[in-house]
Amino acid sequence: HCGFVAIVGRPNVGKSTLMNHILGQKLSITSRKPQTTRDQILGVQTKGHIQTIYVDTPGLHKGQDKAINRYMNRTASQALKDVDVVLFVVDAERWTEEDDNVLAKLRYAECPVVLVVNKVDKLEEKDELLPRMMTLSEKMDFAQIVPISALRNKNLDRLESLVESY
Ligand code: GDP
Ligand code: MG
Repeated sequence: HCGFVAIVGRPNVGKSTLMNHILGQKLSITSRKPQTTRDQILGVQTKGHIQTIYVDTPGLHKGQDKAINRYMNRTASQALKDVDVVLFVVDAERWTEEDDNVLAKLRYAECPVVLVVNKVDKLEEKDELLPRMMTLSEKMDFAQIVPISALRNKNLDRLESLVESY
C-alpha cells in the first residue's frame, strides 16, 4: 500500500521541519527566510509494507503579481490533486491572512484535511492550547486537529499513526 500525504501551509509555519522530523533526515530546507522551499520536495517513508510519500509544498501565496508566486501557487495546488490526506500546518501562536488564503484553497480538497497546530512549545501557558484549538476548529470541518511541536518532536508519533490510518 502506498499513501500520499501533502504538507501545506503558509511560509514559516514549520512544514519543512515537520517533514524532516517525520522522515528523520534533512531532505527539506528549513529557513527563517520564507519561500526557501522553491519546489515540491518528496520524501518516502517505508514502514513494513506501508509506504508513505510526503510532499512538502511551497506556500500557497497571495501575491499573484509575480510570476514566481503564480508558479508556486500552481505547484502547491497541483500537489493537492492526488493526495490521500492533507496536513494543513499552522502556527499555534498566530493565524494570518495567508492562512485564510490557504484555507480557501483547501475547501476544494477531496481528501481529509488534518489541521496540524505546530509550535505549541511557544505557547506560554498550557491552558492557552485548548481555546486556541477550539477557535481553529471553527474555520473548517477538519478531519482531525493535532497539536504538535515539529522542532521538539512533540506528538509527532500520534500524527504519524493518524496519517497511516488514512
Ligand atoms: P516552512 O516554511 O513552513 O517550511 O517552515 P520551516 O520548517 O522552514 O520553519 C520555519 C521556522 O520555524 C524555523 O526557524 C524553524 O526552526 C521554526 N519551527 C518549526 N517548527 C517549530 C516548532 O515546533 N517550534 C518552534 N518554536 N519553532 C519551530
Ligand atoms: Mg519549507
